[in-house]
Amino acid sequence: MDMNLHELRNFADQLPSTDPMPVLFLGHGSPMNALEDNEFTRAFKEVAKNIQKPAAILCVSAHWFTRGTFVTAMQMPRTIHDFGGFPRELYEVQYPAPGSPGLAQTTKELVKSTTVQLDETWGLDHGAWSVIKHLYPDASVPVIQFSIDYTRNAEWHFNLAKELALLRKKGILIIGSGNIIHNLGMVDFQNFYRDNYGYDWAIEARALFNKHLLSGDTKPLLQYQSLGKPALLSIPSPDHYLPLIYTLGLKEEKDAISLFNDKLVAGSLSMTSVKIG
Ligand code: ZN
Repeated sequence: MDMNLHELRNFADQLPSTDPMPVLFLGHGSPMNALEDNEFTRAFKEVAKNIQKPAAILCVSAHWFTRGTFVTAMQMPRTIHDFGGFPRELYEVQYPAPGSPGLAQTTKELVKSTTVQLDETWGLDHGAWSVIKHLYPDASVPVIQFSIDYTRNAEWHFNLAKELALLRKKGILIIGSGNIIHNLGMVDFQNFYRDNYGYDWAIEARALFNKHLLSGDTKPLLQYQSLGKPALLSIPSPDHYLPLIYTLGLKEEKDAISLFNDKLVAGSLSMTSVKIG
């Protein structure tokens, strides 16, 4: 690390204040979206075109699920190919965005309710690079990842996200990357490319989640385990759902909320993505 502690402390002060950046939840779906040019990846590109270029990105990915909370602090995060059974091309993808040790340190200092530990070993997992690659193909925007503590519930993550609010006013784009409906065990691979194909329970769950998202009523979304069978089938484990909770925790009263890529895939997945602000 070539910045000394004093410089690191002043990192947030050095960043000019900006209008609040939007916050995104991106449904990442199959890792193959990293390579494909399809309606979902075109919408990722479109959303980036319509927002101010960020100073850096903080990404909460479904694929970094840890005991405790970590933030990546290396200068050059590696591209992690954390999946199996895909074509070689996908393993050859590199996304060489720099990290930001300064932003990692600032993030650690912003959070008071728990200890955020600086991490030097992770990098960018596919939850981060498979979508950010479409937003900023030239990898010119520094990216740090923020892990999800799997010992904590949705309400805890919602409150933790609020402690990151200052970053929005410093030109930092915060992205949650997961899938609201994500039941891998029930995926219908025969119908992977069938347009907007969801099981009845997934259709019902999507309507329910969207209703609560658009009404701004976060309480039922935090208590998703009480939302009934379609919601339980959508969230058999919370890893892909909790990134959404981070983005909701960052929503201010006056922020608009809109949905895009709001389609079901392969029966038991949704690509629904959310733009806040
Ligand atoms: Zn995933």
